[in-house]
Amino acid sequence: MNRSSIRCLLACCACFSLLFLSCGGPRPIVKEPAPAIEKPVEPIVFRPDDRAPVVRVLVTKPASSIRVRISSAFFVGEDPAEPPVRRFDSGGDLTVRSAGNRLILKRSGKDLHKAPVITIRKVGEGNVYINGKPYRGDFTFRSTQGGVIAINDIEIDDYLKGVLPAEIGYLREDQFEAYFVQAIASRSYSLSKLEEKRLEMYDMKATIMDQVYRGVQGEHPEASRAVDDTRGTVALFDGIPARMYYSACCGGHTADIRIGWPWKSAYPYLYGNRDTGEVENGKSFCYRSPHFRWRVHWSGRTLENILKKTLPEELGVKPSTVGRLQDIVAQGVGPDGRIKAIEIVTDRGSHVVTGDRIRWVFLPKHGSRAILKSTMFKLDVKKAGGRVSAVNLVGGGNGHGIGMCQAGAIRMAERGYGHDEIISHYYPGVSLVRYYP
Ligand SMILES: [Zn+2]
Repeated sequence: MNRSSIRCLLACCACFSLLFLSCGGPRPIVKEPAPAIEKPVEPIVFRPDDRAPVVRVLVTKPASSIRVRISSAFFVGEDPAEPPVRRFDSGGDLTVRSAGNRLILKRSGKDLHKAPVITIRKVGEGNVYINGKPYRGDFTFRSTQGGVIAINDIEIDDYLKGVLPAEIGYLREDQFEAYFVQAIASRSYSLSKLEEKRLEMYDMKATIMDQVYRGVQGEHPEASRAVDDTRGTVALFDGIPARMYYSACCGGHTADIRIGWPWKSAYPYLYGNRDTGEVENGKSFCYRSPHFRWRVHWSGRTLENILKKTLPEELGVKPSTVGRLQDIVAQGVGPDGRIKAIEIVTDRGSHVVTGDRIRWVFLPKHGSRAILKSTMFKLDVKKAGGRVSAVNLVGGGNGHGIGMCQAGAIRMAERGYGHDEIISHYYPGVSLVRYYP
């Protein structure tokens, strides 16, 4: 949606508000026949059962053993989809150890159970501690090549409480509306992964690869309140939960997924828009972010050494094909201001890096794993004696830039926008519904 007129935005958002208010909650008991509805305004998706979905989140790296502490009685099973097979009347300090293709659950040196997959379902309240960290929900332990892994089976809204502060920070009271937006975005993103990952061991990782999740330690009362107040509220597009990507700062224009991640599914609500509105007098909502504009400088030799490492890692090319750096050429800029591709010319071969992968190749510092803030930049290449002598970038934004700009969303919250208005600004065309009670 073009954001040239705030009136259009508000008109759209009014529709959103109506939809939001009209959808959701338990279905009322109808005593008299309801008037016939000619045509539904939006496709309506109801879950077949009324329970909140459970997500499966990988919370550990593979290891030879995992420490588990549980304070209540618990059940042990061998398949998360099946009823448990044993009950233990007291908790305690347990370990799950990898032994070939099987796992061994132990307590005080004694084997309690052996199976290829082990589930632990607590009886009653209380957290389960995994390697000392408390989590809500239950756990499934599985064998992988690298050892045993722990997967948190947790109701989605409990999961979101451990996600929000890690993903959008600790907000001031006048910014709380952004917690609502983040709750809906994170919930919709999670649900959009469930079907895709159904046959895999878990739905999401607890890292930036999906959403950073820190369990109970990552919770904050105000963020948890936003999760509760938006319970079940999901953004849909074409009747399915929207893949609501987000990143820290868009630099003034959100990214077009077709340019940033051409290898992923492209949805129309992720094609990118100017991040501005009339209330900011044409300025971007995220212009106060410390990441709004930035510079990076490399000497030719430094960048050459970085590329010798990152090109083989990221593109899988042979190290012998990365030689002396002769030129760096940007191949087109999208309407979202981001570089589409870069050609790296060396005396042993040329390589083309596309989209957001550029950030993993052009690392700002030699020896550091921090990636380039964004692909929105102007490139200035200096050459001397047939070789690159220096490279300067002037860039904008931090993150892939696709979907919501979190710095902009926080600013919109400060300026009094509602969460439905902020969502329609960053994800035009999605609609909000209550997906579970
Ligand atoms: Zn922005």
